[in-house]
This record gives sequence, C-alpha cells and structure tokens, in this order.
Amino acid sequence: MTDDSYEVYAIRYGHHARPARDNYIGGDPHDILEPLDFFVWAIVGPAGTVIVDTGFDTAMAERRKRTIVKPVHEGLAALGIAPQSVSTVVISHMHYDHCGNHELFPDARYHLQDREMAFVTGRCMCHAPLRAAFEADDVIAMVRKLFAGRAAFHDGDGEIAPGVSVHLVGGHSKGLQCVRVKTRRGYVVLASDATHLYAHIDSGRVFPITYNIGEVHEGYATLKKLATSPQHVVPGHDPLVLARYPAAKHGLEGWIARLDIEPKG
Ligand SMILES: [Zn+2]
Ligand SMILES: [Zn+2]
Repeated sequence: MTDDSYEVYAIRYGHHARPARDNYIGGDPHDILEPLDFFVWAIVGPAGTVIVDTGFDTAMAERRKRTIVKPVHEGLAALGIAPQSVSTVVISHMHYDHCGNHELFPDARYHLQDREMAFVTGRCMCHAPLRAAFEADDVIAMVRKLFAGRAAFHDGDGEIAPGVSVHLVGGHSKGLQCVRVKTRRGYVVLASDATHLYAHIDSGRVFPITYNIGEVHEGYATLKKLATSPQHVVPGHDPLVLARYPAAKHGLEGWIARLDIEPKG
C-alpha cells in the first residue's frame, strides 16, 4: 500500500424491508420486496481512519420503525477501530440515517457541505415534506459541534486527506456529498444516497425522497466520472454490496465488506 492508498469498509448496521414500488419515483411494476440496508463506511490508511456517516441509534430505529442488525459501534470494534481515536468524520448529508449516534466520536471533526447546513437550518424546513427525513435533534447536535469548533465546511469539492476527497452532488438532499477514495484497485466512490441502489444509477431511476431531480441525474454522471469504473461506485443502501464484495475478514460475512478489493461480479 502506498502512502495515499486506503482500505475501505462498508459496515452494515440496519435493515428495512419495503416494497420495490417505494424505492422509485413512478413506482415499480414488480410486486416484490426490495429492502434497504443501512451502512456506515470506514476508510483506513496510514494517515488514520476517516468515518463516513454515523448511522442511527436504537431510539431512532424504534421511532422510524427500522431494524438495527448490529449497532454501529460493534461494527467499528470488529475492525479494531476505537471511536475515540477517530479524528475525521464525513457526513454525506443530514438525513436521520446518516448523522445520528452524536456522542460516538468525541474527538472527531465533522465535514459537511455549506449547502447542507444551510438547507437544514433554513426556510426549506418550513415545509413538512422537505423536513420529513431530517431530525431536529440531529441538526441541533451538529450546531453544537459547530460551536465546539468541531465542524468543517466544504463548498463543492474538498480534500479530507491525501487521496480522500468530498464532492457536492445535491439532488437527493440539497447538500449531499459523495466521497472519493484512492485504493489499490483505483478510485472507489462512496455514493451514499447519490444512488441508494445499483438499480438507480444503472437504470436512471430516482429515489422518491428528492430535493432536485435534475441534480440526481447529474449526480449519476458525477459518480461515474469520479470513479475508476462504474464498478467502483458503491451505492448507499444496496444489500447487493455485501453480496458482491468479500467480507472484511472471516466471520464478518453479511456484516462488513471490503470495498478496496475487486467485487465478485
Ligand atoms: Zn438520504
Ligand atoms: Zn440514506
């Protein structure tokens, strides 16, 4: 591994069974379940560990009727990552499933886009449909981090560490950002909700929670441009990620996958 090449892990912490028709604007003709998994991601390199998103906790799972399969802190422990040692967290966007567990990383600085903070503290939140996937407590927790000197803002593209960068996508949430990581197999792009499932980017369909549909489609092109190949784009909620990528190590099958190794197909 060279100095700016990283290991990347997808850590599954939650699950939600739902019909396929709920995953697309315009629905889906198939009367089948198309569940969503919930992930956080760990980027591990010589310069330290970068965590992408922080998931939700048990109380939020109950409130939102989602299932926690393994709490986020257990996934980190399985990789030998001590949360108190993490100094950098990237928040892809402020939806409840991406920015909870507020106290898990006590010494971390949180990186987000200017547009996302403005979005969740501004006039768009006057409208119930636009604020539905956000939680006031998550926003307040981020404001507290800001005033504790623990927030960092990006406007478009930004470098987190050599070989790790964030890129504004918007679309699904006004300030959604993806993360590009240099790995031994090329540039992997953690799309987060810039594409929930492989099916979204592959077929050009759009998840129903969307601030700007035009930006979603532009985002699909951005993801492909940033990644070494379309196979290097990692969707934010697709159970296929754990099926396609090898387990991080023996015993972690169905829980933690290694994304810097070529997928099986
Ligand atoms: Zn989202
Ligand atoms: Zn999400």
